[in-house]
Amino acid sequence: MKDHGSTVASPDPAATLTAPLPDAVRAAVSLPDSTTTVQAIDPRLATSAAGWLKVESSALCGTDLDLYQQGLGHPTVMGHHVIGEIVSLTPVMQWSWDVEVGDRVALEEYLPCGLATCDACSKPEVYRFCPDADLWGGQRRVGMLGIHEGSGLHGGNAEYMELSTRTVLHKLPRDLDSNLAAWTQPFANAVDWVVNIGGATSGSRVAIIGPGYHGVAAVAAARAVGVQEIVVLGRNSRTSRDRLEIAEAMGASIIVNDDLGLTSAALGRHGQRNGFDVIVDTVGLGGPALQTTEHLRKLGRLILAGLGDTPVAEVNLKTLVRGASGVVGVRGRSPEAVARSIELLAAGDTGLEHVPSIDVGLEGVDELFRSLLDRTGPSSPHIVVRPSP
Ligand SMILES: [Zn+2]
Ligand SMILES: [Zn+2]
Repeated sequence: MKDHGSTVASPDPAATLTAPLPDAVRAAVSLPDSTTTVQAIDPRLATSAAGWLKVESSALCGTDLDLYQQGLGHPTVMGHHVIGEIVSLTPVMQWSWDVEVGDRVALEEYLPCGLATCDACSKPEVYRFCPDADLWGGQRRVGMLGIHEGSGLHGGNAEYMELSTRTVLHKLPRDLDSNLAAWTQPFANAVDWVVNIGGATSGSRVAIIGPGYHGVAAVAAARAVGVQEIVVLGRNSRTSRDRLEIAEAMGASIIVNDDLGLTSAALGRHGQRNGFDVIVDTVGLGGPALQTTEHLRKLGRLILAGLGDTPVAEVNLKTLVRGASGVVGVRGRSPEAVARSIELLAAGDTGLEHVPSIDVGLEGVDELFRSLLDRTGPSSPHIVVRPSP
């Protein structure tokens, strides 16, 4: 019975935070032996949840596949391109994130330390370089923390995800189509690489090496600024040919080139004497990518967005000086690019609506990874885990 004369004790913060959640949250847990099982996880095990997200979608990217193939260090709920609805949050984070329960958001994968003493976190545009959040360093990232930490629900391949005070999120329009919303993060990368760093504008000619996930996103980014021509190079495999067809439907010219060593020659034949303002290597070709600098127009940029198997190569510096051109490595994206990505997706006509969405439930994650590793998987690069049917 309530005593109206006394002060009501404030509720236990952890209890408040897990209140709308089921006692058992279904999650696809990926194991170090490159298998995945669906497990029921108790969200009350969370020790430092600053909020909870009901996951709408978790899009698969090449990094997931690499990590999975290399063998994870510990059982992990993967998935780092996450969209969802906030179902609970602490008052402090409501203020800090400027969001409310019920808001639809896109997460960034980085979980930066946020300390004023951190070189990266002290600058708002480059927190992704925080050593804590580095893919090759601290690995404090969405979809990389093990299930032994707190609830273990730190990735998008689960019905619900724990948010921490380090989470970086962006509000999404409620009416943005779900297939397009799932493009928020890779499209933001592509906007940063092609437009912000590459400098593509309406008169530009853009070449993209590789028609994969980020290659297709790069086509959309080039299209968004109305470039003059987009050319996409891909191999003569089943998957690559299907993806080139998608790029073509988005308005790109395509080049099928199976000899990666001859990438520059293939590009030269297509570009004739016109050259390109921006060339984006999404594959990580190494030397053959550097050779394409000979087809850059004055002030052109070669954007290296893939690590690949053969990243070490010699550069002809004379070519760069004579053309005042640049070779730039890129990683992730600036927060401003995420905002631009959301704006462009909401405005429509990115061309990404031409990319078939391959939707997979949690039970399908194991088979999905297996099929992608043995190259029998779907050819569309837009693969989206949807934890709640
Ligand atoms: Zn990714
Ligand atoms: Zn930091």
